[in-house]
Amino acid sequence: MRKRLIAGNWKMNGSKPMVRELVSGVLGQLDQGRSAEVLLIPPFPYLPLVGSMTENTPVLLGGQDLSRQASGAFTGEVSGEMLAEWGCSHVLVGHSERRSLHGEDDALVAAKFQAAQAAGLQPILCVGETLEEREAGQTEAVVRRQVGAVIEAAGIAAFARAVVAYEPVWAIGTGQTATPEQAQAVHALIRAQIASEDATIAGRLQILYGGSVKPDNASDLFDREDIDGGLIGGASLTADSFMAIYKAA
Ligand code: PEP
Repeated sequence: MRKRLIAGNWKMNGSKPMVRELVSGVLGQLDQGRSAEVLLIPPFPYLPLVGSMTENTPVLLGGQDLSRQASGAFTGEVSGEMLAEWGCSHVLVGHSERRSLHGEDDALVAAKFQAAQAAGLQPILCVGETLEEREAGQTEAVVRRQVGAVIEAAGIAAFARAVVAYEPVWAIGTGQTATPEQAQAVHALIRAQIASEDATIAGRLQILYGGSVKPDNASDLFDREDIDGGLIGGASLTADSFMAIYKAA
């Protein structure tokens, strides 16, 4: 049985008062009886604050990105070890905003995936097609290529310590969610791609859906066989909406 994971990607949002209010709200609505895990992914400067507020709680902490390098003259970059030192267990790699706005290609994403694991972090590999790619019938090919690049670089065994997030680019921040059928179909493809190399790893792999998940569409998505939770952007910025999604998991 795979654990559900509900991850909040705050993107470049927040302030110290907002972080205090949001994290207090999340902690106040945590239900120790639920098996779903909560992961908060704030901007780097707020990691220490979120980490200190969530210490000795089950809430997990993650980074939004990391450098492919371990250390050195890479101004503005943050290494996996630094994230681990601040208490992160997870880190996003290949978020579509990194791919499209920062030119991250499959090779760089694979290198970051490996750098994350070298630092003891679980990478959350984000994959997904654009609207043009979907309309051209290329969804499967794009997702296979994005996952395949990481299998080739890191090896299939690396997926025993990783999470995959399927995030159709056309659904991120647009209010347009993939239907549960559309999402499940791609999740099943991803699991089958991993299973063709290692069925045990595929059976244990958490595959999250991301793209305009809201309290009112979350449970329909999470009911699907291969959807193991969500990567939540906009709706993770208030405790009420984020925790309503958590309660649907
Ligand atoms: C995301 O940023 O990963 C995301 C899914 O955003 P949103 O929920 O706002 O679509």
